[in-house]
Amino acid sequence: MAAETVDGSALAGRALAAAGARHMFGVVGIPVTSLASRAAAAGVRFLAFRNEQSAGYAAAAYGFLTGTPGLLLTVSGPGCVHGLAGLSHATANAWPLLMVSGSCDQADAGRGDFQELDQIAATKPFAKLAVKATTIADIPHLVFQALAAAVSGRPGGCYLDIPSDVLHQTLPESEAADLIAAAAAADSAASNPSPPKQKPLDEGIEKAADLLRRAERPLVVIGKGAAYARAEAAIRKLVDTTGIPFLPTPMGKGVVPDSHPLSATAARSLAIGQCDVALVVGARLNWLLHFGEPPKWSKDVKFILVDVCEEEIELRKPHVGIVGDAKRVIELINREIKDDPFCLARSHPWVEAITKKAKGNVVRMEAQLAKDVVPFNFMTPLRIIRDAILAEGSPAPIVVSEGANTMDVGRAVLVQNEPRTRLDAGTWGTMGVGLGYCIAAAVAEPERLVVAVEGDSGFGFSAMEVETLVRYQLPVVVIVFNNNGVYGGDRRGPDEITGPFKDDPAPTSFVPAAGYHKMMEAFGGKGYLVETPDELKSALLESFRARKPAVINCIIDPYAGAESGRMQHKN
Ligand code: ADP
Repeated sequence: MAAETVDGSALAGRALAAAGARHMFGVVGIPVTSLASRAAAAGVRFLAFRNEQSAGYAAAAYGFLTGTPGLLLTVSGPGCVHGLAGLSHATANAWPLLMVSGSCDQADAGRGDFQELDQIAATKPFAKLAVKATTIADIPHLVFQALAAAVSGRPGGCYLDIPSDVLHQTLPESEAADLIAAAAAADSAASNPSPPKQKPLDEGIEKAADLLRRAERPLVVIGKGAAYARAEAAIRKLVDTTGIPFLPTPMGKGVVPDSHPLSATAARSLAIGQCDVALVVGARLNWLLHFGEPPKWSKDVKFILVDVCEEEIELRKPHVGIVGDAKRVIELINREIKDDPFCLARSHPWVEAITKKAKGNVVRMEAQLAKDVVPFNFMTPLRIIRDAILAEGSPAPIVVSEGANTMDVGRAVLVQNEPRTRLDAGTWGTMGVGLGYCIAAAVAEPERLVVAVEGDSGFGFSAMEVETLVRYQLPVVVIVFNNNGVYGGDRRGPDEITGPFKDDPAPTSFVPAAGYHKMMEAFGGKGYLVETPDELKSALLESFRARKPAVINCIIDPYAGAESGRMQHKN
């Protein structure tokens, strides 16, 4: 009797499962359809999307939420090109992802084969590692290698190319098992180097603790790298023992609860403008943090940067740079501080200044939020959504947010009291991430409800994935802030409406009052059209309880909100 054989698709599926993968996002077609079902048979659930771009954003968010690489599967050529969106987005955000693409037959490469592309060259600029299996026996060790590379050092995207002929090659069952076992053994040897390669941290830790102790106006800045590192307990302890105010970046929100009395979120300008020492944990001093420079920051501020990436520290040249995992470094700082404890009293002038400013701003914002403005501005529906989310308690829903005003105002209004419960456009300001993120969040954290607060423009990029939500019956409620277009539709002055195409709709406008809720109904999900506070409250109550896919089409006054969501200077 002939020995049982395994083909490349099955071997890839098994290797992914053996390496610990549990979910894969993608779009099937030639030559990877069999890979998706083989992987599923081996224990890797395949979530079939309508577009690789959304699947890629799902894989990126999955990497952030779970700390393990999100898997993206694409077909060759154009599928691979669509997948670049997710691959690059993951790398830009420092989230681990592995993109696996089928590619054309090696024998026909260079002759104009079906969906031919040099996929290694195409993916390389966006990937930490781009490798190709040229024969079936390469697959297991490349799977393990690429998955390990995605999480090592600064996390990011990696790429594995498997040509069509390799997917169809076969080898005996026993050889397949041996190759996977050998790849797993090599991987575990590589991840347990001996002696351990740990840079001495002591000097940096002592300097950091000393600087914080002597600071008059210290601040802890919490980035999404700290959330990724699961440093929440350590950072919470640091804030609680020292009394130092903290400022989260958008996706660092929730590492320490927004409701914590030392939150400086509502006093951001004062906090960054006047702090004299800033401990920045897992956040780059990039555009989101005004490059750490005046006028937003004081010119005399001393930065203590904690980052897993040495190049990041070298780039920013901080006063103290500590290369290491955020959780471990902050634990060490806590230990150092414990031997010589200090605590800023709540009556300390710096803490008092921050809390006073924050309270004043909160009172002012709450006064705005308390009004029921109809037709809706951004504040009124966001307050209602915030309260509905808070009423869910713990585990808190994961909030997905994108759009210009919707994301900008939403960041201030929506409250994160648990880590990794906010997903937004991120480092690249990527629009179109919404429904991919939702699907990833729903499968990565099945105990949590997922609530997406989307601008109508942001929603449009991935709207067809509402069918995916229904197909998998995921507990996702998508609220579309429908203001007729980008920034609110047609805002042109009369002098801008000129030229031969003056009768065309404005580049920023969509069909007014579009029936987005009906898209969900078209697939058998629940759609709501809401225009008043009571309608929104009732839609949220019902859809949150149902934990089924829903779209709430929330009509917003097109004249509410600012152009470019307060980034006009860049537009
Ligand atoms: P944010 O957008 O929240 O400001 P960034 O994406 O700019 O955050 O920065 C995140 C930083 O966190 C990156 O520089 C990345 O290298 C770093 N990082 C990733 N993982 C870890 C970790 N485990 N420990 C410390 N830093 C990390």
